[in-house]
Amino acid sequence: MKVIGLIGGMSWESTVEYYRLINEAVKHRLGGLHSAKCVLYSVDFAEVEELQRQGNWSEAAELLTAAALNLEQGGADFVVICTNTMHKVADAIQARIGIPLLHIADATADAVKRAGLHRVGLLGTRFTMEDDFYRGRLTQQFGLEVVIPDDEDRKTVHRVIYAELCVGKIRPESKAHLAAIISRLVGMGAQGIILGCTELGLLLDARDSRVPLFDTTQVHALAAVEEAMKL
Ligand code: GLU
Repeated sequence: MKVIGLIGGMSWESTVEYYRLINEAVKHRLGGLHSAKCVLYSVDFAEVEELQRQGNWSEAAELLTAAALNLEQGGADFVVICTNTMHKVADAIQARIGIPLLHIADATADAVKRAGLHRVGLLGTRFTMEDDFYRGRLTQQFGLEVVIPDDEDRKTVHRVIYAELCVGKIRPESKAHLAAIISRLVGMGAQGIILGCTELGLLLDARDSRVPLFDTTQVHALAAVEEAMKL
């Protein structure tokens, strides 16, 4: 089994889910007392969030590259960044480390294509919904069509992520707001919805949507286990 290197803490509320899902999947596959071999570098999310707000992505890339190098030195065979948003600096990190990085958008696009869908709605932070690093990858490398909520709805999703989910607040009224946003994306032709933020699965589940949900935390964690089993 390969050693999985996790860059976590963004937020730790979802890193816990990664750790649980990865270990459950290894247990399911190998049985008995088996569990995943992993190294975790968990950052202080307040530092990362401040850099995001300042638009200081180069400093954020430095911070996460240091974490990735730490994982490499600690014996990780590949790296998993436990957040969609910080994949904005994934290429910069990959260029500086000697082990592969398992990209969350690639794992997600594979899952969408395996489900036979080509037009998907995307929910996440405003960086993930608006910038090209994520949507561009889905469209250019995987041929998917991506629809995003309107400006007002994007603000709502972004606020719920940072002000609630990343600090462990699960509110029924926010669940209802996000379910309504999903419904509007379906009205725009989305055949499935990417929960493109690793905390969204803490709030939403299949009952909140008429179309399939692709929870990036689950998809990414399972892709990590798949990779760890390849020898
Ligand atoms: N975990 C979230 C994501 O998947 C948001 C937190 C962050 O900015 O990294 O994008």
